[in-house]
Amino acid sequence: TPETDERLDAGPHSRALMQRAHAVTPGGVNSPVRAFNAVGGSPRFIRSAQGPWLTDVDGKRYVDLICSWGPMLLGHAHPEVQAAVQAAVARGTSYGTPTEPEVELAEEIVARTPVEKVRFVSSGTEATMSAIRLARGFTGRDVVVKFAGCYHGHVDALLASAGSGLVTFALPGTPGVPASSTELTLVLPYNDRAAVEAVFAEHGDRIACLVTEAAPGNMGVVPPEPGFNAFLAETCAKHGALFVSDEVMTGFRVTREGQWGLDGKVEGWRPDLVTFGKVMGGGFPAAAFGGRADVMGHLAPEGPVYQAGTLSGNPIATTAGLTTLRLATQEVYDHIGGAADVLKQAASEALSAAGVAHTVQSTGTMFSVFLCDGPVRDFNDASRTDAAAYAAFFHSMLDAGVYLPPSAYEAWFLSSAHDDEAVQTVLDALPAAARAAA
Ligand code: PLP
Repeated sequence: TPETDERLDAGPHSRALMQRAHAVTPGGVNSPVRAFNAVGGSPRFIRSAQGPWLTDVDGKRYVDLICSWGPMLLGHAHPEVQAAVQAAVARGTSYGTPTEPEVELAEEIVARTPVEKVRFVSSGTEATMSAIRLARGFTGRDVVVKFAGCYHGHVDALLASAGSGLVTFALPGTPGVPASSTELTLVLPYNDRAAVEAVFAEHGDRIACLVTEAAPGNMGVVPPEPGFNAFLAETCAKHGALFVSDEVMTGFRVTREGQWGLDGKVEGWRPDLVTFGKVMGGGFPAAAFGGRADVMGHLAPEGPVYQAGTLSGNPIATTAGLTTLRLATQEVYDHIGGAADVLKQAASEALSAAGVAHTVQSTGTMFSVFLCDGPVRDFNDASRTDAAAYAAFFHSMLDAGVYLPPSAYEAWFLSSAHDDEAVQTVLDALPAAARAAA
């Protein structure tokens, strides 16, 4: 088994740190997906990072295809982001008063996305939690609709699993979430218009909002079928519910304007509320939710719906985010898209040559490689990916100096710093990894 295969071992310093970590932290990690439970072996502890490279505590270098799970759009230790952050730190780190960078970052987000007003928080989880509270407060309704396989952070009401039957209320997705927290959540299969129509027909006047990843990335990349998001927006509007588009992962990542730049902007519709995180924090804890001015006007202190945060809009985080977004020009997205195209094609060729069933799916510059036949339209399809084959693929890549997400159900993230050398390192590693997966 992977757990006992010594070829999967990290270096001695990573292993020693993992032992110490296990003694004081559950599972040795501060977010479950960082552990190697799904692929076997022990995670590498990273000491430093520069551009597209991670260096672990044993001195081994890896091309980073995790990019902190999305945020590092410009690569690690970008000199201009670092300089801006250092200058901000020199002015003090948190005041608990309004600051100029908050206004500038809000203006930048409003200029690039469909939101009219925005409120900052510190994590994507807080953003979606606050968005559904606001949707409930605004509509005076309680029911929330979500899709199986979409992750919106560890919000109680959104950590829900589908019940039996199509139109049933959800069950808690983890111990610790009371049934009362999910009994107002309905879980539907993604890309399934009939399921959406059925649920609105039966419960439409009780639905506060439908929340969806703008393009799911948390079951691997599963693009919305053409017109699906427009259909969701229209269905919500027809029933007086709000359409909440979660762009925590896709925002400022798949295009300059997020997933909305690929569908809503072209088709001429806007979500009522949008959540952001990851890239907009430039590697610091910053996230946001925003949307229609009349809806956002229901938030305290303007309106009655309470929401707050000691470190919300923190000056270091907003400076890092603002600097990152200002540097994220169209050339950045063109570069990442070009590198993604090269890697998608090479991964597919290597897997085909090794006879491994696979499907490569993408939205904008974000893509993932499923080890199963396609197309992957929803969570059921994604569940067919061969996790054992991925574990073998992952470890072969890691040995060759490429740090992929240690899970078969994730996007591979690139940055503007992924240059020819980094891309070539990945290309060189793919054929053997594909054979390992066979
Ligand atoms: N929403 C989406 C689409 C995400 O991908 C994530 C995190 O991966 C979250 C929300 C939660 O964000 P955070 O981990 O910052 O709480």
